[in-house]
Amino acid sequence: STKPKLYILSDFHPDAVKYAQSLFDCILFEDPKGAHWHSDATAILIKDYYITEKDLIAAPQLKVIGKQGVGLDKVDVDACKKHGVEVFNTPGVNAGAVAEMTMCLGFSVARQVPQLCLRQRVEGEVIRKETVNGLLLSGKTIGVIGMGNIGRAVAHMFYGGLGCPIVTYDPYHPGGSGPWEQIPHTRVDVLDQLLERSDVVTIHVPLAPSTKGLISYPQLQKMKRSAILLNTARGGIVDEYDLARGLEEGLIWGAGFDCHVEEPPTKKTYERLWSHPQFVGTPHIAAATDETQIATINAATDKVYKFLVG
Ligand code: NAD
Repeated sequence: STKPKLYILSDFHPDAVKYAQSLFDCILFEDPKGAHWHSDATAILIKDYYITEKDLIAAPQLKVIGKQGVGLDKVDVDACKKHGVEVFNTPGVNAGAVAEMTMCLGFSVARQVPQLCLRQRVEGEVIRKETVNGLLLSGKTIGVIGMGNIGRAVAHMFYGGLGCPIVTYDPYHPGGSGPWEQIPHTRVDVLDQLLERSDVVTIHVPLAPSTKGLISYPQLQKMKRSAILLNTARGGIVDEYDLARGLEEGLIWGAGFDCHVEEPPTKKTYERLWSHPQFVGTPHIAAATDETQIATINAATDKVYKFLVG
């Protein structure tokens, strides 16, 4: 066929694969040929897949990488630049889904929904309502760390839906116009100021050397003892050991995490954190809706196609 070739190296939604097949001659990751993409591929489509400089050296014909989703922490972007390989991610496309999941984790922690379910269903406990007290989120101050596509969507939902005052910290966010600017917010230039003021602290920065351990023990100490910490960004931005310790010492009220350093997370590694009654964890599913998966993969496919064919 005259279609360009595309190696699909991750397990993608069948509808998105079908769309890719309408534009490309696709070799799927489960195809034995897919395992040997290095020698042949000019274009690849990836999700949770590491691309190192070694890969680029082994793949001299590679011109373009489509990365479904936003995070590029598994792709050596500098090496791609050096080797003349274009990388396209799909910023913005999954922001709504991740923002919804952030809200969901916030409510789950505040009202202890998963814990109560578990105690009733798995442990067979009969729970009297008088013994349960959660937190109200309406009107509470929300601290948003990282005001990119997702941080802005989260701020929008908390402000628009719950009337929450918004405090933001993002030294790189250019500001400017757009719907976000209509949301009253207080911008701080020092992270501690956000931590001290916020009832919910929610993290929306990429994982990078500068953000690894951004929230560690000293930052937890700065937070209110009634505060909730949410992380739907990446594991490692919050130091997990310090978080377990901080929760046990009552430095904060609770935490909701979609991202862990070890993924998928296992009970063996996270026994201590998961057994804390005020911690809610999910296995990196913030963007895992059918609609979002199809939309992000199709967006990456389109970008690769446009780059190759115009
Ligand atoms: P984005 O690039 O639009 O926004 C990131 C923002 O973080 C930018 O405004 C940037 O200026 C800011 N930032 C960078 N370093 C910072 C720092 N040290 N302190 C404060 N702000 C800083 O990205 P996005 O679409 O909003 O996504 C944010 C992150 O969420 C992604 O990098 C990704 O790791 C993660 N993510 C997770 C899931 C999931 O399934 N849980 C899905 C999508 C994205």
